[in-house]
Amino acid sequence: MAVERTLVILKPSAIQRGLVGEVISRFEKKGLVLIGMKMVWLTDKILSEHYMHLQKKLFFQRLKNSMKICPVVICCWEGVDAVKVVRTIVGVTNSRDALPGTIRGDYSMSMQENVVHASDSVEVANVELKRFFDEKELYVYNPVLLSTLYASD
Ligand code: GDP
Ligand code: MG
Repeated sequence: MAVERTLVILKPSAIQRGLVGEVISRFEKKGLVLIGMKMVWLTDKILSEHYMHLQKKLFFQRLKNSMKICPVVICCWEGVDAVKVVRTIVGVTNSRDALPGTIRGDYSMSMQENVVHASDSVEVANVELKRFFDEKELYVYNPVLLSTLYASD
């Protein structure tokens, strides 16, 4: 079983609409373990790195601007196959195509204002966690329910 860590950003669309508790609750209830969380006001510099793969898109600056209209909440979630599990809970990029039951499917009608960011591979998660967290901000502890969560695997 591969225990992974993944990065989730609660975007301004989550903060402004009061969805922080709801979004975090979904990951918690699934059984992912929260090992880091902070509120940060992102800068154009870090957003240019974070969205480097979209730098040629016409919406690049608009996207970056939308990510710094207010602070965001950044989390690190840990669990078996955490990267894939979190992406499944989040849903596809265009919220209008995202399935009911996913965060984007339930809470958004937008491609851009789609409530959450989640790392899309283990390699990307490692890079993104280093970008947004110092190692000392990620806590190693023993979640008491671990044996219950994974008992039959
Ligand atoms: P994600 O991994 O599902 O978040 O999607 P991407 O990595 O492809 O894109 C990053 C973010 O850019 C998305 O979550 C959206 O907020 C935004 N985005 C992607 N495609 C578009 C688009 O066509 N138009 C706009 N305005 N924003 C987009
Ligand atoms: Mg992406």
